[in-house]
Amino acid sequence: MSRAARALIDELADRQALNRQDLLALLAARTEDTAAYLFERARAVRHAVYGRDIYVRGLIEYTNHCSGDCYYCGIRRSNGQAERYRLSPAQVLQCCAQGYALGLRTFVLQGGEDIYYTDERMEALVRAIKTAHPDCAVTLSVGERSREAYAAWRQAGADRYLLRHETANATHYGKLHPPSQTLANRLRCLHDLKDLGYQVGCGFMVGSPYQTHECLADDLLFIRRFEPHMVGIGPFIPHRQTPFAREPAGSLGMTLYLLGIVRLLLPGVLLPATTALGTIDPLGREKGVLAGANVVMPNLSPADVREKYMLYDNKLCTGDEAAQAHEQLQRRMQRIGYRLVVSRGDYIGGPACAHGVGSGGA
Ligand code: SF4
Repeated sequence: MSRAARALIDELADRQALNRQDLLALLAARTEDTAAYLFERARAVRHAVYGRDIYVRGLIEYTNHCSGDCYYCGIRRSNGQAERYRLSPAQVLQCCAQGYALGLRTFVLQGGEDIYYTDERMEALVRAIKTAHPDCAVTLSVGERSREAYAAWRQAGADRYLLRHETANATHYGKLHPPSQTLANRLRCLHDLKDLGYQVGCGFMVGSPYQTHECLADDLLFIRRFEPHMVGIGPFIPHRQTPFAREPAGSLGMTLYLLGIVRLLLPGVLLPATTALGTIDPLGREKGVLAGANVVMPNLSPADVREKYMLYDNKLCTGDEAAQAHEQLQRRMQRIGYRLVVSRGDYIGGPACAHGVGSGGA
């Protein structure tokens, strides 16, 4: 590792910030040694803030109907070959009950932008989950809606919202989405959500078509400015029934490197080791945790619909019963020295929350 790369990582860890030029230099400096040092610093910060706890979110993919048409996504509306499904509110509540019995205290409702689930139906669903499980957090990941809808769902008890910004560069955004979907509206949604008091997650794919280091630097600067509570980062994986079918997948190494950088930029951030990481490498989620991640999201959706929620090809989908999968995940994390905890797993602090984090802390 060069002395310059080490100095950049030290500066990032100490100041929780780098300028654009230095971020570009750090991205270009990625070697095995540099990554190892970055991960060491990121783990130290993560241990100081969250210890060795791993927060678990029960993921419920409740609908794969979508009116959106993102070019990278397997369930985009133009994919006539996708086999569509939609869980009823009763089925969603069953998934929550099953997750609760396993010790999960956060449920993530993730779906396409499904017009059947109107603002009112979503509101009723959130209310029903919070009534059944008042000690649990509800996270929504259901795309772009009006500020009024977000306000009503927050009022009904929704705690968190995940909405990846995808890319902070408007030109790049335009290459991944049809003209009807704009970065401006995506950012409007994110700002509304934050303003309404949600814990908000943004994020992006690594290695998406047309992405450059400049795009990644802009993503990192946006994240630092926006100060989200969560950041979802996973590798781009092509889906064969999309316009990007022949594009190469994003790299595991760069995804892990970015996880490490984000942990240093925002020490208290909730950072998932995503399913996509586990898809491109059998030990991807473990490697994600060792790079600074502190959240995993096992799937609680009924086994018979999981295969249909194919955002990208070969998505990790064990078909195991939820209980078995949970035990297996617990064992995997214990093997690398971490533990899944029974907790809502709320956000702990802002970017400047020192929590005793100092140079070289372990
Ligand atoms: S990424 Fe989301 S909004 Fe875009 S097509 Fe897929 S499910 Fe729909």
